[in-house]
Amino acid sequence: MNRTPKTLLEAVTYFADPDRALAHFVTVRWPNGVACPRMGCGSASVQFIATRKLWRCKECKRQFTAKVGTIFEDSPISFCKWLPAIWLLANTKNGTSSYELGRALGVTQRTAWFMFHRIRLSMKTEAQTQLAGEVEADETFVGGVSRTSWKARSGFVKLEHGPATGKATVFGMVQRGAGKGKSRARAMVVPNHRATSLIPRIYENVKPGSTLYTDALRSYRQTDRDFIHELIDHSVAYVNGRVHTNTIENFWSCVKRTLHGTYIAVRPFHLDAYLDESVFRFNGREGVDADRFLSTLQGADGKRVTYAALTASHPRWRLRPGRAARAAARRAITQAEPIQRPSDRI
Ligand SMILES: [Zn+2]
Repeated sequence: MNRTPKTLLEAVTYFADPDRALAHFVTVRWPNGVACPRMGCGSASVQFIATRKLWRCKECKRQFTAKVGTIFEDSPISFCKWLPAIWLLANTKNGTSSYELGRALGVTQRTAWFMFHRIRLSMKTEAQTQLAGEVEADETFVGGVSRTSWKARSGFVKLEHGPATGKATVFGMVQRGAGKGKSRARAMVVPNHRATSLIPRIYENVKPGSTLYTDALRSYRQTDRDFIHELIDHSVAYVNGRVHTNTIENFWSCVKRTLHGTYIAVRPFHLDAYLDESVFRFNGREGVDADRFLSTLQGADGKRVTYAALTASHPRWRLRPGRAARAAARRAITQAEPIQRPSDRI
């Protein structure tokens, strides 16, 4: 069972067998033996029904598949497709578009999009420990009107940082590694770049007493009390000994290559999920492909998001009439009397 794939090719061929793919996920999910995932039952006295690929709990008498209680719950897609999809998203440096995955797996783009969002959820690792030591903090702006667009050049919109130009503000922190690499990043969408938005995030994520490197933005000044705050004024210099924000600038460039190159236009509502994906790959960049695949798969347990929840807060979807209303409108069009054109008249 230890023979895990090392390359994408191996993963595709290895997981092509449904039983083997299921067995692989089961050993990752339940390394100490299958336990009932129903409503905190957790009983280990379960019986496998091989013909139906499900288990029956002897305690609560309920049946469950390996997908219950994970990001895969209710998904009709088999593990033969799920596991290569996870391999792809965990290991492609700049992400993978749902169109590419759809074509590669033979599923619709919408299905592939939903799969990727569930995989992003399993990449989301809750912040357990605060960052410490040397930490760089910085903010950046994503989306909206570009500085080179005609709107900006013609003065149609005033170019300011933040929501004024439709850009989302993203705040990030990177703990510098002691050696080469091994730095840890964290990133989140914030309402704006004022102190009231940034300071609470710093206190949440960075241990007081740590050294904090930032640029000269006024919002960071309040951190002087509890942190060793060193700032670098980018209008003067970018590096002053150890005082710089180049590590996080490097992380931003990874994020922006992914967003601009692959995802193109990300709705602010979904931006956090794309940040989770970038953070995951940045923090796991020291490992090999199989490591990143495994840690994504391990994160699948205990998480769930439905398609309805993913699209519910989407302003465009809210404005659209419901499915029933759209179907009624279509019926009305098809049943309407054909329009008589002048050429039809005799
Ligand atoms: Zn049970």
